[in-house]
Amino acid sequence: MTKFLFSLVFLMSISLSAQQLKSPSEFLGYELGSQFTRHHEVVDYYEYLAEAASDRVQLTVYGQTNERRPLILAYVSSAENLANLETIRQEHLKDTEGTGNSSKAIVWLSYNVHGNESVSTEASMKTIYELLTKKSSYLENTVVIMDPCINPDGRDRYSNWYNQYKNTPYQVDPNSKEHHEGWWSGRSNHYMFDLNRDWAWLTQVESQQRLKMFNQWLPHIHVDFHEQGVNNPYYFAPAAEPYHEVITDFQRDFQVTLGRNHAKYFDANGWFYFTKEVFDLLYPSYGDTYPIYNGSIGMTYEQGGSGRAGLGVITAIGDTLTLKDRIAHHFTTGLSTVEVSSQNAEKLNEEFRKFHQNKEFKYQSYVLKGDKDKLDALKSLLDKHNIEYGDLASGSYRGHNYGTGSSGSLSINKNGMVVSTDQPKGTLVKVLFEPSAKLSDSLTYDITAWSLPYAYGLDAVASTSSVSVQNVQETMPSSNISNGSYAYITDWNSMDDARFLAALLKEGIRVRKADHPFTIEGKSFERGTLIITKGDNENKEGFISTLQTIATKFQKDITPTTTGFVDSGKDFGSSSIQMITKPKIAVLSGGPTSTLRFGEIWHFFEQQLQYPLTVIGDDYANRVNLNEYNILVLPGGRYGNHFNEGELSKLKDWVRQGGKIIAMGGSIDALDGEKGFGIEKKKMEKDSGDNKPQPYKDWERERIKGAITGAIFKTKVDNSNPLAYGYGPDYFSLKLGSSAFNYLDSGNAVYLEQNSKPFSGFAGTEAQKRISETLVFGVENYGRGQVIYMVDNPLFRGFWENGKLFFANALFMVD
Ligand SMILES: [Zn+2]
Repeated sequence: MTKFLFSLVFLMSISLSAQQLKSPSEFLGYELGSQFTRHHEVVDYYEYLAEAASDRVQLTVYGQTNERRPLILAYVSSAENLANLETIRQEHLKDTEGTGNSSKAIVWLSYNVHGNESVSTEASMKTIYELLTKKSSYLENTVVIMDPCINPDGRDRYSNWYNQYKNTPYQVDPNSKEHHEGWWSGRSNHYMFDLNRDWAWLTQVESQQRLKMFNQWLPHIHVDFHEQGVNNPYYFAPAAEPYHEVITDFQRDFQVTLGRNHAKYFDANGWFYFTKEVFDLLYPSYGDTYPIYNGSIGMTYEQGGSGRAGLGVITAIGDTLTLKDRIAHHFTTGLSTVEVSSQNAEKLNEEFRKFHQNKEFKYQSYVLKGDKDKLDALKSLLDKHNIEYGDLASGSYRGHNYGTGSSGSLSINKNGMVVSTDQPKGTLVKVLFEPSAKLSDSLTYDITAWSLPYAYGLDAVASTSSVSVQNVQETMPSSNISNGSYAYITDWNSMDDARFLAALLKEGIRVRKADHPFTIEGKSFERGTLIITKGDNENKEGFISTLQTIATKFQKDITPTTTGFVDSGKDFGSSSIQMITKPKIAVLSGGPTSTLRFGEIWHFFEQQLQYPLTVIGDDYANRVNLNEYNILVLPGGRYGNHFNEGELSKLKDWVRQGGKIIAMGGSIDALDGEKGFGIEKKKMEKDSGDNKPQPYKDWERERIKGAITGAIFKTKVDNSNPLAYGYGPDYFSLKLGSSAFNYLDSGNAVYLEQNSKPFSGFAGTEAQKRISETLVFGVENYGRGQVIYMVDNPLFRGFWENGKLFFANALFMVD
């Protein structure tokens, strides 16, 4: 009897606490799905749960966005598990080294990485509530880690915009303004970066802070919730080909297991869905692939909707898609994921251990050498990924040589390093470093090449044997800056050098550049070398101490000289040692520019170079007096003939008088032609060869013959051109399309020769012909000014480190 009473009280207390826990609708004061919930309200609800169910929900603030919104994670599990959370985590991580004995499933659910795919944060609230109430049995052997919003700045940008424009009641007619978000959409983060392309490159604060947490857990399962076009049925795993070859059979199979369970619920409700199409698993910087390369089952789930859908919209077949429908679908797959994981906890743990024990890769070591600044840039990325590396003092190493694309050797006498696959992050090392990823299919969603030695501009060999680390004494750079010197000299070949120069110019220090190589006091210097003379800065108060401070901050090696009389080359008073103009920069935004391309430039200036820019809106650009600026940057986009004749002639006058245009990607289309500048689109004569009609079913295969889906090409560099100072004779460019321009009459700084084949990644046969003998980067002198053409995009997603100096050269060296 006592026992019965006890259990009755126990049961009552459970149902009471469940009853007491407020659902999202109860907490928010409106029915979930009838409004968009602002981010701070979402945080409030999670905080409420962490208090009301404190034994089963723990909340962590893991960072802050650019616009100061908090980034949060909720750990959700049984009371017993949560009390042992740290032990569970440590036991799980030991599995990466084969020493753990973990039994819990770890499931990580990430919502709303694309800010205007705004259903998912709403769905997260319903999901966590359900896990804490009706589905709490799943949590007995499962820890669920929920990130309710990866991209709060983008989400609030969307929801605030929607609230401004929405009709009351909401209008389902797709023509209504509430379904047309406009240029500054909520998809990306503050800097207009796509956070679902940033997992491997970690250029953005959201990714950097999140990855620290992710690496503390390395979950078994990771789901990235998205939305796609309004008319698409739901998409869930299994994913489409191509799959990267490192993906294990279990990772493939478990996607099917999960997909079948989701399908069961969708079938019962009569909901449409598709699998195995469109969303492939290759490019390593996604929320599905990156976790996969770290041993998770990583997946993308896509609801139909996005920024077009609002609270409700009519679809192409005449149905109404509401926010409530969208919530129901993401809620269903989220719970189904936790259910399957809970049922398979043992298997997930076993396979996770296996994944981390298998390091049977063709290449065991990647040996790299290069300029210290470039090695440091790579090391800083590897640190963020918890990838281990070591130094190499000297030696000769054989393997696949990245520079030639065939086997050869690399000798190192200083500045060498090695990254091995024999480490917990070995699979990720292979994916990021291997010369080229194996493609099971060339129809892919994204770029097909990203190999880090190319991206960081390092000489490298991939070795089939294991190379061991040597200890190297780090020599600190000497910046011996004292009052007595005539001038201070420093080299120019990295982004660190560009940051150093930008800092000097901001402080009002005058800097000259060498347009010819020279030797002074027995030391040789290349083109682009920076020369800071006492004479130029005599009136600058605190010149020496400011220079000293900045040199120390950027760890610059500075050579002081007591004379301006060179052993060979031009003396420092020569007219070829010119003063660098402190640029005043305007960047076009809106209208024809792409938000992503604009964002890369914005982020480059503020967060990478730390140099100010003025952002000009296309809607009032006509009324801006360009004479207030000496550089105008035109980001890539869809320009067509965006500038009319009057606007073009205004631009030409400004350049003639000394202005400088940096025209990137699609903006070049707006400058060519009869009324424009000297650049010409390459014309292709019709292919005479294969003229057979192609069957309709092959159209997609036919189409990709003309495509380049992000491939790496070896290009020629004229490094006597100021646009290419600091580079060697070759440059590996990431080509993102087959847009092609003829060589300029002069000023071809970087170009493709005949019959260029990709070193890494896919390029269709037609596309290869198209880009043969075309311009990559060039300078057209026009009056007293210049137009700089960047056909390829060195700032793409902020990760092609070795291209950034071209952009810095365009700002500071070309004149
Ligand atoms: Zn998305």
